[in-house]
Amino acid sequence: MEVFNNINKMQEWSLQTRKQGNSIGLVPTMGYLHDGHLSLVEEAKKKCDKVVVSIFVNPLQFGQGEDFEEYPRDLSRDSSLLEAAGVDAIFAPSAREMYPTGFSSSVEVSGEITEKMCGASRPGHFKGVTTVCTKLFHACLPDMAFFGQKDAQQLLIIKKMVRELNFPLKIVPVPIVREEDGLALSSRNVYLEGVQRQEALVLIKALKQAEEQIRGGERDITRLIGAIKATIATSPQAKIDYVEILNGDNLSGLERIEGRVLIALAVKFGKTRLIDNLLVEV
Ligand code: AMP
Repeated sequence: MEVFNNINKMQEWSLQTRKQGNSIGLVPTMGYLHDGHLSLVEEAKKKCDKVVVSIFVNPLQFGQGEDFEEYPRDLSRDSSLLEAAGVDAIFAPSAREMYPTGFSSSVEVSGEITEKMCGASRPGHFKGVTTVCTKLFHACLPDMAFFGQKDAQQLLIIKKMVRELNFPLKIVPVPIVREEDGLALSSRNVYLEGVQRQEALVLIKALKQAEEQIRGGERDITRLIGAIKATIATSPQAKIDYVEILNGDNLSGLERIEGRVLIALAVKFGKTRLIDNLLVEV
């Protein structure tokens, strides 16, 4: 397995790999890998000849007072996991390599898709995400890039960027991987302290209840959101950031439940902000 810290070296490897007739699958991550990340790797291995995993905690997508400094990092553990998973190359650049002094470019998707949900609570976050993904795509030259449904809004924004700016690659969505009890895997789960881990189960409980209500014929969004909030409120530590039910393809608002809907939420347990979602098709 190759490990690249340098953008030019990464690009050379990718150009050479493509010249030899191989397709490249890219899995962008911020590291501290778990089985959710590894399911993206598995999907990439199925669909592409060579797999590159990028590991980069991107300062641009963290706001003031967020957890950039504390974000968990363990490159040597990540490397062992990826080697065992049969990955061909790791791209792990430093922040200085990605954003040298004087760096002032950005790529931004504007409009309601980036303004609601996490875009409302984390201003500038998605501009950081689209800028870093552009750089990762240019460095790794993938035919396909794999993104988790866990970050549903990110996935839709990246798809829109790739479509509108004609990036020559395909975005492949991968389902959410959960713990046995239903908690969505996240690198941030290690922050959960004491009872917070148990209380975090209200998220999947509330999402599943809403899904059942929809399957039972409920079409009223205000009532569904009210029920989700009431369930989350049974956890004393939970502080709701948002609960939204939106069009699952473009995050536009809905009058009532129809088509593919995304039920998405962000909730804080102490300092730890968790996101989760379910897609429901009616
Ligand atoms: P992160 O390292 O958190 O930036 O995540 C890197 C990629 O892994 C993103 O595309 C995430 O959506 C995806 N991912 C994170 N957690 C999960 C999960 N539990 N299941 C599936 N994909 C995930």
